[in-house]
Amino acid sequence: MTGKRRWNGWGSVETQYPLPVQAGVFLKQLLGEGKALPGITLEQVISKVPETRLEPNDLYSTGPFDRICHARGQSLPDWLAMKCGDYGQFPDAVAFPQTRQDVINLLELAKQNQYVIIPYGGGTSVAGHINPQQGDRPVITVDMGRMNRMLGIDKESQLATFGAGVVGPELESQLRGQGYTLGHYPQSFELSTLGGWVASRSSGQQSLHYGRIEQLFAGGKLETFNGCLELASIPASSAGMDLREVVMGSEGRIGILSEIDVNISPLPKKEGFFVAFLPDWESGVTVMREAAQQRLPLSMLRLSNPIETYTQLRLAGHEKSIAWLERYLSLRCVDEGKTMLTFGVTGSRSQYRHTKQAFRKLLKVAGAVYIGSVLGKRWQHGRFRFPYLRESLWQQGYMVDTLETCTPWSNVTPLMNAIEKSLAQALSEYSENTHVFTHLSHVYSQGSSIYTTYLFRAGGNAADTLQRWKKLKETTSRIIVEHGGTISHQHGVGKDHAPYLNQEKGEYGMHRMKQICELFDPNKQLNPGTLLDD
Ligand SMILES: Cc1cc2nc3c(=O)[nH]c(=O)nc-3n(C[C@H](O)[C@H](O)[C@H](O)COP(=O)(O)OP(=O)(O)OC[C@H]3O[C@@H](n4cnc5c(N)ncnc54)[C@H](O)[C@@H]3O)c2cc1C
Repeated sequence: MTGKRRWNGWGSVETQYPLPVQAGVFLKQLLGEGKALPGITLEQVISKVPETRLEPNDLYSTGPFDRICHARGQSLPDWLAMKCGDYGQFPDAVAFPQTRQDVINLLELAKQNQYVIIPYGGGTSVAGHINPQQGDRPVITVDMGRMNRMLGIDKESQLATFGAGVVGPELESQLRGQGYTLGHYPQSFELSTLGGWVASRSSGQQSLHYGRIEQLFAGGKLETFNGCLELASIPASSAGMDLREVVMGSEGRIGILSEIDVNISPLPKKEGFFVAFLPDWESGVTVMREAAQQRLPLSMLRLSNPIETYTQLRLAGHEKSIAWLERYLSLRCVDEGKTMLTFGVTGSRSQYRHTKQAFRKLLKVAGAVYIGSVLGKRWQHGRFRFPYLRESLWQQGYMVDTLETCTPWSNVTPLMNAIEKSLAQALSEYSENTHVFTHLSHVYSQGSSIYTTYLFRAGGNAADTLQRWKKLKETTSRIIVEHGGTISHQHGVGKDHAPYLNQEKGEYGMHRMKQICELFDPNKQLNPGTLLDD
């Protein structure tokens, strides 16, 4: 990231993503005129930060700016808090460990004094993972960002070790310098960390080729109140239970990951991203499913439903080129109800050629119109810039949020429809519209993720807007778990999804998960309220 990080929004202060004029007109037609919520200045927030409950200590900072910057993540309630000032709880201090020993010392201090510890990666959680809860015990947030170095690389075995606080671009540039890549690209890549990816079971945009973080996480060190849990990086083992499974998705509840070993790949010889349009949703889903079940070695697949396709084309700007494209598609009988499919091919030159050919055959059979790499390149260049659009929407009084899940193929379309219907109706009591659209972007032989975006107008103030969001989030999260979806395919549980976990894991499963956390942390000092609701 070039430039300073925004204290109350996404990314660098130097990067803007203005909303194209036509897109503003489009939103106004759909949702009505937006009105930005009144904001709060940094000075005003600083004046609200309460006295810390901790004595000064070299291990942490109690400065108000550090405490403000670590109080909230990136969910919509977090944005409302950061921009409008109703923060709730602040951590009492923020620690910036540089070594494993610093982490061990912090845990020891917390253990002796019953402090609460919140492990913090990039703070990009969209589910309330790192927000401190109210309580009597002082809270120290542990920002891992200074543990960001590559500590070793074994090229022969394609393994590398990193400090857990390394963010995406730092990790990739250290590997690329040696001719390797991890290939993990969540949309939050710019700010999220390796430790956060493992702790919240993240999935990158090219997981089809490189795997989810579960396939990339080889081993490492988890610092706990009672010593270090060392996970050996052995490629395969039948030696009992795999303890990596306990660490992945532990969301800071059992310890702090200090060092992480990852499976790396040589940089691909060739990579490209392309777009095709299909006549309707059903033919698009069929192509996605067949590609997954035939195990075509594509690196990325994304199918936008008709409303997302329409919205993306309207938000793209470049009206003349889009009008030309739509006329061309219409001549090829791909018109109303069309779906846009973006795909990526990554690998050696021959893999690249064969995979592309095989996939284009599938597309042809499905009646797709292949339009080449122009829109694919646009997607590639903009892939980490889209989150900046949220700032521009905010300034115009429009809120944007997402819901995501995963379900078997037989349930993908019914669940998508149920999610969209719930979101579309949720604000009827306010006589407000919601603009809802969906894509499928992580496919497996057995099913697919469903990623739904929704936009709505801000209410008269932050509290009213929060009520609207709660209505949307709560009714639809309930629909997701009651209709056979997971409460999260990639964003994790945090605090916002904890109430829905029971449905998925069952009473017995929840009880055992709680017991596992208590074995590591009997006094519930590690990130209480996240993952489990106490
Ligand atoms: C714009 C945007 C786009 C996103 N896109 C994606 C996406 O494409 N795919 C995806 O998977 N997610 C995505 N996310 C969600 C988020 O980025 C991921 O959940 C990410 O893995 C969080 O990483 P982080 O380093 O920011 O962790 P944080 O948000 O800081 O923490 C997340 C959890 O991990 C724990 N944790 C962090 N570091 C450690 C550590 N070293 N040891 C132990 N526990 C730790 C924390 O306690 C917390 O419970 C997106 C978020 C945003 C805002």
